[in-house]
Amino acid sequence: MRLARFEVDGKVFSGIIEEEKIFPCIEGDVLGCAQAYTELNLTKGENPYDLNNVKLLSPVLPSKIVAIGLNYRAHAAEFDKEIPEEPMIFMKPSTSVIGPNDEIKYPSHMSRRVDFEGELAVVISKSAKDVKAEAAGEYILGYTCFNDVTARDLQGRDVQYIRAKGFDTFAPIGPWIETELDPDNVRIEAFLNGEKRQSTVTSDMIFNVAKLVEFVTSVMTLLPGDVIATGTPSGVGKMKPGNEIEIRIEGIGSLKNTVAER
Ligand code: MG
Repeated sequence: MRLARFEVDGKVFSGIIEEEKIFPCIEGDVLGCAQAYTELNLTKGENPYDLNNVKLLSPVLPSKIVAIGLNYRAHAAEFDKEIPEEPMIFMKPSTSVIGPNDEIKYPSHMSRRVDFEGELAVVISKSAKDVKAEAAGEYILGYTCFNDVTARDLQGRDVQYIRAKGFDTFAPIGPWIETELDPDNVRIEAFLNGEKRQSTVTSDMIFNVAKLVEFVTSVMTLLPGDVIATGTPSGVGKMKPGNEIEIRIEGIGSLKNTVAER
């Protein structure tokens, strides 16, 4: 099932996508309440919209995004880093979230190097603390595409990643949440201005999705709607104002954003 948030005629709805149609939910608030999804108590309205005639929004508004550094072998190699023995985590603020087709604002007042990082995002369905890997699936609502936009020059300069990863608009998410997916074996790709720059299968992850859920929830409680960004494969690169960046994940879809001056 594909779950989305969308806007039409100035109103925001939760929706269920079926082929090229999107059915607004007349009951059940998705927002910040992913629990509603798992219990499937969204009531589907009868009059769908054409998917092409609505503005898709970020499918979820997480209270926090926990992101994983160096989770693909080839990406560790391209930055000349050792394979980590345990996941390296950092956070991106809720205020960095944008949706499909929204603009990534280039913070040229501070940074000269802003990179895309295509990633598989895990959306949490219910409050999760000390979840074992074997039970991780019970806490996952679904999956979507994510771009862990990074001011690479600031990442190198700061000890903490907060500034490099935390600018407004640095967390494009979407286009929808796919609830049926094998996260450990899908192709993830990034296209800069239509040119393929990243292409890997998620089976190359050092720590798979279930292990990441176990690790992160052994540190902090994840709330419904929270997102784990599972790390980027090799091939990251810089973007400039005017560029279009697309993250494409097999079985989910495509997340496109443009880069603009702040
Ligand atoms: Mg990343």
